[in-house]
Amino acid sequence: MTAPLLQLSGLGIRFGGLVAVDGVDLTVAPSTITCIIGPNGAGKSTLFNLVTGIYRPTAGSVALAGEDITGLPAHRIATRGIARTFQSSRLFEDLSILDNVIIGMHGRSRTGVLTALLRPKRSRRELGACADQAETILRGISEELHARRYEPAGILPQADRRRLEIARALASRPRLILLDEPSSGMDDRDTAALMADIRRVMADNPGLSFLIIEHDMRLVAELPDSVVVIDYGKKIAEGAFAEVRQLPRVQQAYLGQ
Ligand code: ADP
Ligand code: MG
Repeated sequence: MTAPLLQLSGLGIRFGGLVAVDGVDLTVAPSTITCIIGPNGAGKSTLFNLVTGIYRPTAGSVALAGEDITGLPAHRIATRGIARTFQSSRLFEDLSILDNVIIGMHGRSRTGVLTALLRPKRSRRELGACADQAETILRGISEELHARRYEPAGILPQADRRRLEIARALASRPRLILLDEPSSGMDDRDTAALMADIRRVMADNPGLSFLIIEHDMRLVAELPDSVVVIDYGKKIAEGAFAEVRQLPRVQQAYLGQ
């Protein structure tokens, strides 16, 4: 039997007296979408920070494709194949749309994309190859973003910023992409487009999986293969949304908000 793409076992972190993530077990198979839901402050973003190496767990383990990556620094975990977006948009506002995608390649290139960007004379050729790949990735996400690739990222509306962040995450050629509330600030039309983007990216990248923290219940009802509910740092339910939403403990977690 092959190992799951991601396996969290008893994963936890304590901040002083607060157990923000408390013994979470979670398995993600290749080519799947899992949504994480739960009230504000439940520990969802902190769970992402544990998986991506921003925080070191105080309990449990994280394995990627059967390899233990617990406690590795964030850049090493990124190189192993986990990319992410953040709850608040983190684009380089003054850099072009294309450069923002090129930055996502940092870590997988030999001489370093950042060096190339900061010292253009030294590694022009490397940057040229990266730019070609970045263009392909950008075009795969949105023809319109590609057409505007030399414009600064800072002028983009919210939905396009999210789209660009996904393109940047894809640029590291990840096996797993973590999205933290990708639909926040989006209207219904943008959210539908986001779902179509994610489905298209899945179709174009065999084996790639998504783990998505999400509040928009239409997205949660439609998009994922399974849903995980977190409350007070603990996993309280897991399964198909239609079943999970009926559970009294899940309804209680939301009512208590
Ligand atoms: P969610 O994303 O589910 O809304 P978070 O993961 O952001 O929740 O936060 C979970 C809890 O952990 C909150 O009570 C938050 O204040 C706390 N927390 C998160 N990061 C830290 C930190 N670095 N230090 C102390 N407490 C933290
Ligand atoms: Mg959060």
